[in-house]
Amino acid sequence: MRAGLIFLMVGLAQPGAAQSPNTSETGNVAEQRETSDMGSEEGFANWLTGFRPRALEAGIAPEVLERALADVRFDPKILERDRNQSEFTKTIWDYLDTAVSADRITHGKAALARHDAVLRRIEAEFGVDRHVVAAIWGLESAYGSFRGDTPTIGALATLAYDGRRAAFFEEQLIAALRIVANGDVRPEAMRGSWAGAMGHTQFMPTSWWGHAVDFDGDGKRDVWGDDPTDALASAAAYLRHWGWTTGAVWGLEVRLPEGFDYDQTTERVRKPVADWAALGVVPMAGGDLPDHGLASVLLPGGARGAAFLIFSNFQVIERYNTADAYVIAVGHLADRLRGGPAIVADWPRDLRALTRDERIELQERLGAAGFDPKGVDGRIGPNTIAAVKAFQRANGMRPDGYASLEILNRLR
Ligand code: CA
Repeated sequence: MRAGLIFLMVGLAQPGAAQSPNTSETGNVAEQRETSDMGSEEGFANWLTGFRPRALEAGIAPEVLERALADVRFDPKILERDRNQSEFTKTIWDYLDTAVSADRITHGKAALARHDAVLRRIEAEFGVDRHVVAAIWGLESAYGSFRGDTPTIGALATLAYDGRRAAFFEEQLIAALRIVANGDVRPEAMRGSWAGAMGHTQFMPTSWWGHAVDFDGDGKRDVWGDDPTDALASAAAYLRHWGWTTGAVWGLEVRLPEGFDYDQTTERVRKPVADWAALGVVPMAGGDLPDHGLASVLLPGGARGAAFLIFSNFQVIERYNTADAYVIAVGHLADRLRGGPAIVADWPRDLRALTRDERIELQERLGAAGFDPKGVDGRIGPNTIAAVKAFQRANGMRPDGYASLEILNRLR
């Protein structure tokens, strides 16, 4: 999966964490200035004229700048994709069907075998489970198969010119020019997603500067080429930087007892594992709950879907992409690559995802009914979930916080 496809389920995403290495947070930025102006060649050329002195001011050498910008052109298709991304939504079960498909598991096991030595070295060096590194690789670029073929500098220039998130993308563009100036990659070879995420593990340029490593020792931090060594090590370095706990799982599927208090099912409630065990939470696979410190119970598909007990490594994967569905997909794919079982619980497959307009309407109606979602942005985050729970409780419904069409219809 190329980065950017995760936008298909922004309805599940929470407000973005800063410094994600891929594009997810850019889709979660609140400043969504609605405009039908898709720009023009002429406007782009004018923007470039204005950008050049800013790039020089930022320390980009004139010859580097001219070479890097020589073939840059305005790409309206990028703006179309950027405009449309938030309109589509997938439910977590539809997303997981694709993200952790039989093919992705098979290809992942093959990739793990093919790169066994380097992945084990990365695991030893950074303390990050190689199956998790492989799972991120699998989701970001289908193990390097879909790294994206869009010239990064052109994509970032188009998005910076567009103006909706100009400051963010201009910062990324300057960082990309610095990478070229540094000699790690030729500008022609610097390619990736339409949103500027690059290579095997879809790093944005500023994340490349912060976390990319030269793991094969050739003097370049090459996340773009066919050899994934540097990119995989860079992903591990990124997770380590954000506090990966060596030897701990991300989470696991659990079974909740009858009558479980749904006020407890939120990332905001953290308890010692012994407390969860005392409440009757048990691993779906049997045995005792593992103890990796404070844990939360998550019901990403509501009370009729699977339940997970999640640990601090869940929050570390969130640094890659804040969508619960993405984090669960990475964790579950890693488990499957290790030979672990499929998710056991059913999902409420009769429910469809709310559209962006419906999510906005839901938030507006929750607020009007006295259940403040603390903002109307079309994204179902912790505040909206809390408001849904309050509404459910007030109306004698099971308060699982799942923002379904049924809730919206009740509010109507
Ligand atoms: Ca290298």
